[in-house]
Amino acid sequence: MTVDITHSVDPIISSSEHIGMVDDFAAHNYSPLPVVAATAEGAWITDVEGRRYLDCLAGYSAINFGHRNREIIAAVTDQLGRLTLTSRAFHSDRLGPFCRDLAALCGKEMVLPMNTGAEAVESAIKVARKWGTEVKGVPAGQASIVVAAGNFHGRTTTIVSFSDDPVARTGFGPFTPGFRIVPFGDAEAMAAAIDDTTVAVLIEPIQGEAGIIVPPDGYLAAVRELCTSTNVLMICDEIQSGLGRTGTTFACDHWDVVPDLYTLGKALGGGVLPVSAVVGDSNVLGVLRPGEHGSTFGGNPLAAAVGSTVVHMLGTGYWQDRAATLGTHLHGRLHELIGGGVTAVRGLGLWAGVDVDPTLGTGKDLCKKLAERGVLAKDTHGSTLRFAPPIVITTDEIDWAMDQFAAVLHT
Ligand SMILES: *Cc1c(COP(=O)(O)O)cnc(C)c1O
Repeated sequence: MTVDITHSVDPIISSSEHIGMVDDFAAHNYSPLPVVAATAEGAWITDVEGRRYLDCLAGYSAINFGHRNREIIAAVTDQLGRLTLTSRAFHSDRLGPFCRDLAALCGKEMVLPMNTGAEAVESAIKVARKWGTEVKGVPAGQASIVVAAGNFHGRTTTIVSFSDDPVARTGFGPFTPGFRIVPFGDAEAMAAAIDDTTVAVLIEPIQGEAGIIVPPDGYLAAVRELCTSTNVLMICDEIQSGLGRTGTTFACDHWDVVPDLYTLGKALGGGVLPVSAVVGDSNVLGVLRPGEHGSTFGGNPLAAAVGSTVVHMLGTGYWQDRAATLGTHLHGRLHELIGGGVTAVRGLGLWAGVDVDPTLGTGKDLCKKLAERGVLAKDTHGSTLRFAPPIVITTDEIDWAMDQFAAVLHT
């Protein structure tokens, strides 16, 4: 027998070869920047050729606590040596503490653990429909949910059914009925769309993919009042905005608004695993009975160990305060660029959407130029860039990233 040992060691493959392989063998549903990450720590990513980049996207807020955060990696490593998966057919010693502590962080009674963000949103929709049918008394099959224009809640068939982004929808029909779209930030339009069949309002308190759109003050409180007075569930999708990003535990906290259901994800998995949840009180989540909903991986011990660690980390308030302080600095630097290539800056905490003069290039062009200077950011629609670095970033690193951004705007 002959063995070709050259195949038993990983060959060194260049960035361009990696990119070619992805082009050849991965579905083309993404168009990533030409950077091939090999290792990362904190706010920094190193590519296969050893070039370093400051990560100013943080996995769309999935990496709020930094790459390979020590506390999180320690929890994962410990749990890997104990128990990783049981399915919900049996109990694990991790699920109870995770649900108890996450519920407490949210000021709620119950947690429905899932995996991805889209699953959390799907689950919240199912819970709202069930609640509407069994508790509110909406005739079966008639429940309606009001959503906002420009929303992003994930990619499943039902969720793209109420997207208004043609790219997300075209060719994917037939769609799930039962959704009404109203302009974001307009409480009167929301009121007009609610009727006897309405079981829930589903909104992002700050719209992420739409370009970090902060609603007018008073909007969320008005929606809260409307939901209470019409017996409609207020569901806030805090998958991207929640868990420290905006300088508070939840974006809703900025306006002292408490929804009936939170959907959480992204940072809940500590940058390690997909971990998501719907969190609410028992009079709502309690409508689910055995067999009516589930997930093989939802609430698995490894995910619960990671989620518990994230909840404990947020329990100190350190991350929220740090995001608030660094966010003030980031927004200050970005505002200095208004008029010098930047036309608008939006956001809260360590989360910024930046509109760039379109004559300077598309958002994607600018992100490529930024990457060449060692800063990884992401465009959204057209000429909007977003900056959402891991909360471990330092003031000096933000300054350096902003210097690179200013240089890109002026070349
Ligand atoms: C990312 C995101 C989702 C979907 O999460 P996935 O884990 O990608 O399925 C849902 N809602 C919001 C607000 C998001 O930002």
